[in-house]
Amino acid sequence: MTDPDCIFCRIAAGEIPSDTIYEDSDFRVILDLNPASKGHALILPKSHAKDLFELDEEIAAKAVKTAKKVAPALMKAVNADGLNLVQNNGEAAGQTVSHFHMHLIPRFKGAAEIVVWEPGKSDKETQQQIVEAVKANLQ
Ligand code: 5GP
Ligand code: ZN
Repeated sequence: MTDPDCIFCRIAAGEIPSDTIYEDSDFRVILDLNPASKGHALILPKSHAKDLFELDEEIAAKAVKTAKKVAPALMKAVNADGLNLVQNNGEAAGQTVSHFHMHLIPRFKGAAEIVVWEPGKSDKETQQQIVEAVKANLQ
């Protein structure tokens, strides 16, 4: 299913031109319009799903396979030293386009950090509460 009002559906379908680095029957992989680093690319499923939680299980598995296939070729193309695989779900997590996508962000030695967080402190009681709550939710 595609959504005619969704920009990534339209890009994935080829209705809107993009810098495509890989395409098969399920995915189009494009260069990001506002790259976080040289070669920043996006893996777009051709079927619409808002986020990871709406995504078909088979497409989710294939998305990771696509990352494994395309990332080495991309890294070689831009001479990268590493790569971040980033995937945002929901506005609070920084998702700005509501069509599931995975970011392939090539990284270069000595370049500024892109994905950063301040390491916090954990306490045993909170950790235990979370463990129990998640286990209960999974039952
Ligand atoms: P999000 O923040 O939702 O995880 O990532 C959305 C990404 O899509 C951003 O990195 C943004 O630069 C990219 N983007 C948004 N619109 C377009 C577009 O029309 N074409 C391309 N190639 N990238 C886009
Ligand atoms: Zn879509």
